[in-house]
Amino acid sequence: MPIHFLSMVKRILVTGGAGFLGSHLCDRLVASGHDVICLDNLFTSQKSNIEHLLGLKNFEFIRHDVTEPIMLEVDEIYNLACPAAPGHYQYNPIKTMKTSVLGAINMLGLAKRVRAKIFHASTSEVYGDPDVHPQPESYRGNVNPIGPRACYDEGKRAAETLFFDYNRQNGLDIRVVRIFNTYGPRMHPFDGRVVSNFIRQALLGEAITIYGEGTQTRSFCYRDDLIDGFLKFMEAPKGVIGPINLGNPTEFTILQLAELVVELSGSKSKIVRARPLPQDDPLQRRPDITLAKSVLGWEPVIPLRDGLARTIEYFRSVDISRFRAPTPNY
Ligand code: NAD
Ligand code: UDP
Repeated sequence: MPIHFLSMVKRILVTGGAGFLGSHLCDRLVASGHDVICLDNLFTSQKSNIEHLLGLKNFEFIRHDVTEPIMLEVDEIYNLACPAAPGHYQYNPIKTMKTSVLGAINMLGLAKRVRAKIFHASTSEVYGDPDVHPQPESYRGNVNPIGPRACYDEGKRAAETLFFDYNRQNGLDIRVVRIFNTYGPRMHPFDGRVVSNFIRQALLGEAITIYGEGTQTRSFCYRDDLIDGFLKFMEAPKGVIGPINLGNPTEFTILQLAELVVELSGSKSKIVRARPLPQDDPLQRRPDITLAKSVLGWEPVIPLRDGLARTIEYFRSVDISRFRAPTPNY
């Protein structure tokens, strides 16, 4: 085999690799011929997401918790391990903070030891309940440090700090992405996030649960668009370290989302105002993706209507009763 081909095959670690985004990232990396190690404690996911990869020569699964150190020889790391749905990350908030912070320290320590390039999945939650709209990367956010979302928001903010300090202090090649609400096939049906809740409820004929008045907004990015952005960012020249927002800038109210799910699924479910808006729930969210467009040449192409149709199709294809809810909060 020619040497130039061999040198393109990388050993890549994906933490949180069995999750919704991680499993799709593993699919893409495995398909490109890389040697992929998927590390996950299966807290908010299940093995079925990676079942189809388990027998492949260039894929390996390690059940491990990122709060514990691990020694591996790899060329690149994608650090995605962290519960992402508000109900599940608030279930054990101290563990969530540990996962973000100790997980980042352990993965950065590993990257430093083996000189691996390291990517980190940060979040639009670093902007909190934003008073600047849409949110550019330069906005420093409005996070309540002592509220119920803080374990996640502040954990992710601290992780960003660690990434940038390892870059400045140790010269690590880092890539920090701030992900805005992303949805698609392989979301856990009992994930508790809005898209999976609404689709599960619509397909089971249950009431669609709106929190608050449904006037709060989010901007929904389809999974494949997002993963394209991850790969472009990782391949960008050295020095492109972020943070870079990745998300779809088309904004919807939660009520509009509920109506669209009902329409596309043909459900008879009623849309109900189930409970008040949770504390610190951001009232608006939309990414400013100017930087991603100019630096990565990236922008999403899949409209919500198309992505939702594909996601509904996926939920129809799985037996929802076979999924175990990670925590009671969905
Ligand atoms: P997910 O819950 O499906 O995936 C997270 C994965 O991390 C799961 O497989 C879970 O079991 C694993 N995990 C959790 N704690 C762990 C630990 N201590 N050790 C090892 N594995 C652990 O969620 P997702 O949507 O795929 O999110 C992936 C990443 O992207 C997360 O870091 C999340 O914060 C970030 N993110 C996602 C979104 C989104 O809209 N999907 C938005 C912003 C940020
Ligand atoms: N939401 C809702 N009904 C649900 C789940 C969520 O109305 O069954 C709302 C939630 O209050 C928030 C928005 O939908 O305003 C997005 O919630 P999600 O948990 O998906 O993610 P967030 O962006 O808040 O982290």
